[in-house]
Amino acid sequence: MSSVLGTYARKEISFSSGKGSYLFSENGDKYLDFVQGIATNILGHCHEHLVKTVQEQSKKLWHVSNAFIIPEQERLAKRLTDKTFADFVCFQNSGTEATEASIKIARKYFHKIGKPEKNRIITFQGSFHGRTLAALFAANNPKHTEGFGPKIDGFEQVAFADLEAIRAKINKNTAAIMIETIMGEGGIKVVPDNCIKELREICDKNDILLILDEVQSAYRTGDFFAFEKSGIIPDIVPIAKGIGGGFPLGACLVTKKVSVGMTPGSHGSTFGGNPLAMSVGNAVLDIIFKKDFMDNVKKKGKYFDKALNKIKDKYPKIIEEVRGDGLIKGIKMQVDNAKFIKKLIDNKMLTVKAEENVIRLFPPLTVLDKELDEAITKIEKACREMD
Ligand code: PLP
Repeated sequence: MSSVLGTYARKEISFSSGKGSYLFSENGDKYLDFVQGIATNILGHCHEHLVKTVQEQSKKLWHVSNAFIIPEQERLAKRLTDKTFADFVCFQNSGTEATEASIKIARKYFHKIGKPEKNRIITFQGSFHGRTLAALFAANNPKHTEGFGPKIDGFEQVAFADLEAIRAKINKNTAAIMIETIMGEGGIKVVPDNCIKELREICDKNDILLILDEVQSAYRTGDFFAFEKSGIIPDIVPIAKGIGGGFPLGACLVTKKVSVGMTPGSHGSTFGGNPLAMSVGNAVLDIIFKKDFMDNVKKKGKYFDKALNKIKDKYPKIIEEVRGDGLIKGIKMQVDNAKFIKKLIDNKMLTVKAEENVIRLFPPLTVLDKELDEAITKIEKACREMD
């Protein structure tokens, strides 16, 4: 019996190594890995530049307290703020901590400007913002909150992209609207650009902050952030997963305006922003900032989308819908998603499920066309076998 606490229903496979889009199991099988640590290893497994960075930095310095200036952290923050809407970055270790920090920053902002009554946050039903108590009750998914009461107050949910419901919920206590730009765990549901634009307008009109959780969606659409196509500027954006390329790293990006409450002592993290994590974050940016890298993500995303839709048209009894944007993809199944995932495992391909009977596909952003073709062949074979 395992001594690991049973918080996961783990599959009976373990891996001894990985390279790029592939994982190698302990018994020597080769799997095409489109889980990639759930949208985390955006450069695939053991990318040369990341390996070299970890090796070099681990010989120099791993960890120092945030009580001191950390040059690697200054550099990563500068590169992120130069590239994005943000003026400041607060480093964490995970997505949950990044969303939790976002909630704190939003509340503290209103406290600082003399409106402490503005402390409630509106979210979408079916969303996922992490596993701390505040993040859990922000999403308020009974599957995740049951038994963890008392309920953390301060959040209310509306149906996905329901702008009327949002308007109806807003009152003098509303501080922020917090949504995932692409709802990941909820089933790869892309919030339409016009909805994001309207949310920005609603926020501006009502003196409310807009928090866009890009923990899962950032970089994958081929833009740095999935919201960029909408042309708006959010107030706070939590990120994690991909920015560490598989190393635990989270961050909360904020504008100067909302940063005013966050003074020394208002937030902290022992590990968040340490030299080792920051070196990896910088190394990830070295690659994704390369000319044409993101354009290629868009191209590959379109190619994959077309091929997946072809399979959908051929097997309408198996696939209902192809969702997503760029290289963040979901397939809403007509058959049980868990059974389809098992079938793909039998065909040596790894995917991960989401709500609404969806399977999620997260190729690394470095995926080769021939690897996308291999995925298509395996998915089509699984469809044929289940048809
Ligand atoms: N927010 C979103 C949108 C996520 O998808 C996740 C994780 O899946 C989180 C927050 C929590 O991130 P982590 O598991 O790194 O704490």
